[in-house]
Formats: sequence, C-alpha cells, structure tokens
Amino acid sequence: TYVVTEACIMCKYTDCVEVCPVDCFYEGENMLVIHPDECIDCGVCEPECPAEAIIPDTEPGADKWVEMNTKYANAW
Ligand code: SF4
Repeated sequence: TYVVTEACIMCKYTDCVEVCPVDCFYEGENMLVIHPDECIDCGVCEPECPAEAIIPDTEPGADKWVEMNTKYANAW
C-alpha cells in the first residue's frame, strides 16, 4: 500500500484523489489519508502529489504513517 505522510498536512491539493482508480483517499483531521485495505498499490498517485507526500509503505519510516492512515481511514 501507499501512505500519505506529513507533507500533506494542511495541504490543499487533491490531485491524488482525482487519479486514484479505486477512490481510496479519505479526509483525516488535517490531511488526506489512504485506506490501506483499499489501495491496490498501483502507484499512480505518487507522482501526482505536488507536495511529494505519498510514499510506499516499504520506505524507511513509513510505519507511523501506515498507522495514521489506517486510523483516519477507518474513522469513516
Ligand atoms: Fe489509489 Fe493507486 Fe495511490 Fe493506492 S497507489 S492510493 S490505489 S492511486
């Protein structure tokens, strides 16, 4: 899965939401998040984010963002 990180906080871009084929972006408290169970790992959103806030969950340091994305996505 891909996850949204701190660069998205207070960001107003929604380019990622528009390109996601499975609509798995959700609104968190002050950032967008990706639902980890719905993301199909296509990678399309990553280059679309102007803030470069989207990373694969395999990247070092991604763990806490996976947790955050899961928490906010499940709040819906
Ligand atoms: Fe959506 Fe693909 Fe990005 Fe996952 S990797 S959030 S499925 S655009």
